[in-house]
Amino acid sequence: MKQLIVIDMQKDFIDGALGNAGAKHAIPYVAEAIKNAERPVVFTRDTHFENYVETLEGKKLPVPHCIEGTPGHEIVPELLNATTTTPIIIDKITFGYTGWKEIFGLADDIDEFVIMGTVNPICPIANAILLRAAYPNKKITVDYAGCGFMADGNGDETFCRDATKYVLTMQQIDVINWENVMLDINTVKLSELPELKEAFNSDARNQKFSDLENQWNTNKNNELVDEDEIASYVDSNQSYWEDYFYGESYWVNPSYEDKDPSTIHSQLGCRYVGDENHYITIFYDKATNEVVCWSMDID
Ligand SMILES: [Zn+2]
Repeated sequence: MKQLIVIDMQKDFIDGALGNAGAKHAIPYVAEAIKNAERPVVFTRDTHFENYVETLEGKKLPVPHCIEGTPGHEIVPELLNATTTTPIIIDKITFGYTGWKEIFGLADDIDEFVIMGTVNPICPIANAILLRAAYPNKKITVDYAGCGFMADGNGDETFCRDATKYVLTMQQIDVINWENVMLDINTVKLSELPELKEAFNSDARNQKFSDLENQWNTNKNNELVDEDEIASYVDSNQSYWEDYFYGESYWVNPSYEDKDPSTIHSQLGCRYVGDENHYITIFYDKATNEVVCWSMDID
């Protein structure tokens, strides 16, 4: 029988302090797997306490999240509601859980562990590798269709997908459904994000985005518009945040320009519009959907 393990699908990792668009996108897929599970599903919860910022994790990642007793610590209800038998819920205080043998014993009636959850490359792969250490002869599969991914410093989620896949494969852990997992996130067209257009709250700026998107769709396999032309899309009245996110310059929504980016970083979501070589990075406020800042990366 297969044993499904769902890693850290908690509110703070979906749309809370460390929300992840890929993990949110994966919820229906994970829910379906939970409904069809052959054994009681095991959920893990990342678990921190009020002293989070004083811990080593908190010093390296100063964004309080998954604090025990807060709503952000809870597993998203769509997944708990999908269970057909009482699940096993494990609170773990760091990325990996070291007690798998206490949960599964010899695991005689388990043929395969299937892992989904968020966020790669942190907790799903940490636990896959710990399971490999505990059960050297069991098949272990990480299903990327049920996982969230974190971009690298260049905003490249494809890199995360490929790097984690390589590490897992070398640990003799199977990775499935990885081929298309990024597409739904990275090829979103601006026209499919009306709430962002709406949030931009400026007809002129929306027109610039539309024009740019049209240029993209027309030219994406050719040389794109030249830099002067791109510069003409940039409203000279907007201010910049220099080099804050990923070492790039961002054009800032005027209502955010007085804020220190570091103080609002944890409330920002990020979307990419375009293809691999040409894209706009858009940061938006997860609470209001308002576009906070954006940059263009045009080769
Ligand atoms: Zn944590």
